[in-house]
Amino acid sequence: MNAHLVIAIDGPAGAGKSVFGAALASVLQAMCIDSGIVYRAVTWIALARGLDPDDDTTLSPVAASMNLQIVPPTVQDGRQFTILIDTEDVTWALRTPEIDRTVSRPSALPGVRRAVTEQLRHLARESRVVMVGRDIGTVVLPEADVKFYVTATPETRARRRADELHARGQEADVADILRSIIERDARDSGRATAPLRPAHDAVHIETDNLTVDVEVAFALDVVKRCLRSATAPETNDV
Ligand code: C5P
Repeated sequence: MNAHLVIAIDGPAGAGKSVFGAALASVLQAMCIDSGIVYRAVTWIALARGLDPDDDTTLSPVAASMNLQIVPPTVQDGRQFTILIDTEDVTWALRTPEIDRTVSRPSALPGVRRAVTEQLRHLARESRVVMVGRDIGTVVLPEADVKFYVTATPETRARRRADELHARGQEADVADILRSIIERDARDSGRATAPLRPAHDAVHIETDNLTVDVEVAFALDVVKRCLRSATAPETNDV
């Protein structure tokens, strides 16, 4: 398979993109970049510093200059990696319901998106990459070799988020999470800049009744066929 390989995975909150992306990247020996972390980090800084989450003038320099690092896990508490902002461990702080509720506001700001998109493109130049997000196939990496659009019903996605929170010993109300997911979907899909939507050449995967292993096996097959034909198939959705 090609030394340089770029795979874009987009879809709404809780659709299973991150787990799928990490598993696919591991098989392909690619770096997995979860772009949601970057938007969550901007949001965390805004809340920590008392900045207006809707103010592009204040937040785009934050997005352009923040010191965000993703390193191997420093604690064995179920995390896949450790996320640092400056030297502070924010791995779980980026996953709180407050961040979930707020993150789509800074994410809708054009200056913030420009700054983040530039950093993401820079990372994608380096090596084999699987990048996960909302606008990767449409805006960040429209020339990606293969694009997937991963979905599940809002109910399935809310249940998964609740299970994640329970697994970390936190309270989780599925009805609240479902409301928050529906609101976030609406904001992510309805914004003017880089809205959530499938690229025209994305392969769709509905994950409600699929295991990650099945998704990865299907995706590998698609990747191999796309690379052979060098054109994305349009009728391979599951
Ligand atoms: O994927 P995750 O749930 O971590 O993403 C958090 C939020 O970051 C999304 O709801 C969306 O508002 C924003 N985001 C985005 N574009 C991306 C990735 C994430 O707008 N490429």
